[in-house]
Amino acid sequence: TLKRANEQHAVKNIKNIIVVSSGKGGVGKSTTAVNLALALQHEGAKVGLLDADIYGPSIPTMLGTQNQHPMSPDNQHMMPIMAFGLATNSIGYLVEQDNAMVWRGPMASKALLQILQDTMWPELDYLVIDMPPGTGDIQLTLAQSIPVTGSVIVTTPQDIALIDAKKGITMFNKVNIPTIGIIENMSYHICENCGHHEAIFGEGGAAQLAKHYHTQLLGQIPLDRVLRQDLDNGRPTVISQPDNPFSQIYNELADRI
Ligand code: ADP
Repeated sequence: TLKRANEQHAVKNIKNIIVVSSGKGGVGKSTTAVNLALALQHEGAKVGLLDADIYGPSIPTMLGTQNQHPMSPDNQHMMPIMAFGLATNSIGYLVEQDNAMVWRGPMASKALLQILQDTMWPELDYLVIDMPPGTGDIQLTLAQSIPVTGSVIVTTPQDIALIDAKKGITMFNKVNIPTIGIIENMSYHICENCGHHEAIFGEGGAAQLAKHYHTQLLGQIPLDRVLRQDLDNGRPTVISQPDNPFSQIYNELADRI
């Protein structure tokens, strides 16, 4: 196994760092990170959310904070942007998206560590980090530089997503970061007219994956217009529709963490 850095600096004020990862882009990692962070808060925890998806920072849009910029009292540290009670920071608040896209590995890793360490986080029980997709340098650098409590892997039930999810679990194993569990997103779609459940991307894959790696399937999230619409409107379902069954699914998920 790879060694974790000898000098891992704990991040001030933060009890637990949970990284939300996926092997592939577009599987719903950010969707999951946002709703999970809000569900953890709903349980009574103090929660922060760091959008480290430098190749597509979508959390500001999902939280309706896309036009905000963190204030800096000393030109080095940043005040987090508060959204629905979450302390947040995002590469998306700091740079134009087009600029972030062309960053190469080392620069991207440096930017991530800097934003993590230069944000003046309040006392937090959990900092949820929405990671960039993939299993490359950025993930390894983060894993070796800061103490991560555990990773949550997001996948769809589709084979090509599951293969990449495996790579993610293997990588975190190598750097001794425990996999807290797997969340299967877009598990099925419920027909709005007849209530029929359709497994658009296949079924059973994430459960098998969890079994194979001796970890748990934390939950299954359906593919649904409501979840997408609420995020596009900057008001995640867990906040805008707490009584919706989807909010219940996320709350149960948070219970298992
Ligand atoms: P990633 O972070 O993995 O790239 P996102 O969370 O940004 O993926 O999701 C990609 C797109 O799919 C977004 O527009 C999001 O609103 C939508 N989406 C994700 N999960 C669901 C879901 N369960 N139901 C409906 N739409 C979803």
